[in-house]
Amino acid sequence: MKPKPLIAGNWKLNKGPSEAHAFSKALSEGISAVVSQTIDIIIAPPFVSLSQAKGDGFYLAAQNVYWEEKGAFTGEISSSMLKELGVSYCIVGHSERRLYFNETDRMINLKAQALIDNRLIPVVCVGEKMEDRKKGVTNEFVTFQLSSALFGLTIKNPDELVIAYEPVWAIGTGVVATPEQAQAVHETIREYLSGRFGRDIGSNIRILYGGSVNQDNIAGLIKQKDINGALIGGASLDLNVFLNIIDQVYKKEI
Ligand code: PEP
Repeated sequence: MKPKPLIAGNWKLNKGPSEAHAFSKALSEGISAVVSQTIDIIIAPPFVSLSQAKGDGFYLAAQNVYWEEKGAFTGEISSSMLKELGVSYCIVGHSERRLYFNETDRMINLKAQALIDNRLIPVVCVGEKMEDRKKGVTNEFVTFQLSSALFGLTIKNPDELVIAYEPVWAIGTGVVATPEQAQAVHETIREYLSGRFGRDIGSNIRILYGGSVNQDNIAGLIKQKDINGALIGGASLDLNVFLNIIDQVYKKEI
């Protein structure tokens, strides 16, 4: 049996508190109880909008975290602060953070560890650049990112961790990986997770695909054996589009 699907919206630098409040209210109204029992739904607003984005039927994710608990780290936010706010998940290692904010594999590992220590669920993003794909080293690259991000981490339950495969060339570009391309990398990730955490846990960790997912391509992706959901940027900002994607995933489940 496949793990429960997970659909996550990454808002990036979009929607301040009032817009987030209106969106989340409408999202709650748009998600029926049966849908939220069948699919885990997440939105990841900017930090300042998190407290305004609460609602029934979905979970909150942060887009980033700092690994220290407290201290002289101006501008940073800890996992226990997120926890206190009602946040359940946190994206780490997004390619935009790696690229624009120089996040290293080591920093991503520290963030993932801090989240797990505070019983928050890291959504660890990995993905190759087009140059890696052209060189034929996608699987090696993704496995290296994974092994670095998960170094030293222990989990007792598959629900304690989510992986998002996001090929950099597909993020925000409108160029989506084909379902077959995505499945091939997801299978590599699945194998790695099963080796790393044991088959019982590894085969039930959710692996999301991310990169230009929208209402026209979700159906083909979600059919794939090792694709357990999607991390969605642009298409998650429009409520009707986001609900349409959720609905398609739900219909596939029933
Ligand atoms: C993302 O932000 O993780 C993402 C996949 O963006 P988009 O869906 O816009 O490509």
